[in-house]
Amino acid sequence: MTVRVRFAPSPTGFMHLGNVRAAVFNYLFARQKKGTFILRIEDTDASRNLDEAKVRILKDLEWLNLPYQEGPLKGGPHEPYLQSERNDIYQEHLSELIENCKVYRCFCTAEELEAMRQKQIAMGKPPRYNRTCATHSDDKIKLKIAAGTPFIWRFRLNQDQIFEIHDMARGKVTFEMKHFSDFALTRPDGTCTFMFVNFVDDWLMKITHVIRGEDHLSNTAMQAALYDAFAVPLPIFWHLPIICNNEGEKLSKRDFGFSLGDLQAAGFLPEAICNYIATIGISLTEEVQTMDQLVQNYNFEHLHHAGHVRYDLAKLTWFNHKWMNKIEHQHLLELAKPFLLAQHPEIKNWSDEKISVLLAKIKGELNTLHDIGAMLAFCFTPPTIARTDFETAFGKEKATTALSVIRDNVGKLENIDLFIQSLKEQAQKNGLKTKEVFGPVRYLITGKAEGVGMHDLLNMLDTQEIKKRLTALASD
Ligand code: GLU
Repeated sequence: MTVRVRFAPSPTGFMHLGNVRAAVFNYLFARQKKGTFILRIEDTDASRNLDEAKVRILKDLEWLNLPYQEGPLKGGPHEPYLQSERNDIYQEHLSELIENCKVYRCFCTAEELEAMRQKQIAMGKPPRYNRTCATHSDDKIKLKIAAGTPFIWRFRLNQDQIFEIHDMARGKVTFEMKHFSDFALTRPDGTCTFMFVNFVDDWLMKITHVIRGEDHLSNTAMQAALYDAFAVPLPIFWHLPIICNNEGEKLSKRDFGFSLGDLQAAGFLPEAICNYIATIGISLTEEVQTMDQLVQNYNFEHLHHAGHVRYDLAKLTWFNHKWMNKIEHQHLLELAKPFLLAQHPEIKNWSDEKISVLLAKIKGELNTLHDIGAMLAFCFTPPTIARTDFETAFGKEKATTALSVIRDNVGKLENIDLFIQSLKEQAQKNGLKTKEVFGPVRYLITGKAEGVGMHDLLNMLDTQEIKKRLTALASD
């Protein structure tokens, strides 16, 4: 069997982590099994689709470096890959269900359905369509159609049926149809619903494994009934656990980093995002891995079912830190430039070489591309330091001693090694630890006591500028 999997986003908003995860796992699975990764855009719900979102999906997949073999723009044997262009196909299959009496017209209005639902809830019953329209006589149906009463097509479930699906993490999952409603296959405007078109396309596009979020598990039950109605075999499923925030709630728009756009704007790298996403919910001996390595190493045979997994921004940030130091320096420089330019427009006059040297010095401290601007801010603007703050930061007595040690040594700044050596020696003579002098030096130059190593720091600005900053408090 040749593996065929698909990523099937609905362009109702922008890519979020749940989408990214589905894309990553489908991609990894296809590559490991030497199969085909397909992109299908599920844009049948015209009221909820944003044109911009479709373009964005294509761009985001490219940005994430998850190339598909079949899909919009690329084409393939099962074109078109936009559901909005496949309506004829859906109508044709709907007609088959109509002919075989597997569906019926439902004329209930949204208000009637809602009232029915409320009543069932009030009676402590699970809300389910009560089949009012399942038994209308032909004459009654004719009259309603003649009167122009809007209707939808509902699937006529056999409540006695039990379906079994195979889920890669859960194993065998059984669904008893008595727990489900006759579901809608069309909307009042005649277009087909997600439930139906998603099934039709998985079938016609010969999808072998449906890898998607656990929120679709109950849809799978109803779709199993559709596979049965057309007498086609079910694919294998893998329902990915729900992603939760630190409070254990389903990740939502309110959580930073839920939207891929947030992460892009904050300067996270696609390599880090994909790597992190691929590792949530499983333990890998080697955490930082390229997609190629994950393709080799990911064990799809030993998946365990987890109800939910936790999204940990701190862990993602850790992955990003690792990746910023892993990618080629020149590539990092190119990625960093737009961020730097936005934060410090004056950088446009700087040579790449100069930025590159600075970047190399702070690289080990960076978590995101956005951090670069903040960490280099002192190169553009000297910190404003009040003596009282300086004294509070290091203690009045030690601060005064450090200042005098520093002042005594600024003459040696032309030779950085000598300056550092001399600072260390004099610190010791004056009863200070090395860091009790280095901290103040850093603070005077950057406004922060922690940061880049002393040697690198002193190489980041010209000697005169450093001298000026180191002696700025001396004249107070
Ligand atoms: N369009 C669905 C979604 O975005 C896809 C579900 C599926 O993968 O089957 O949730």
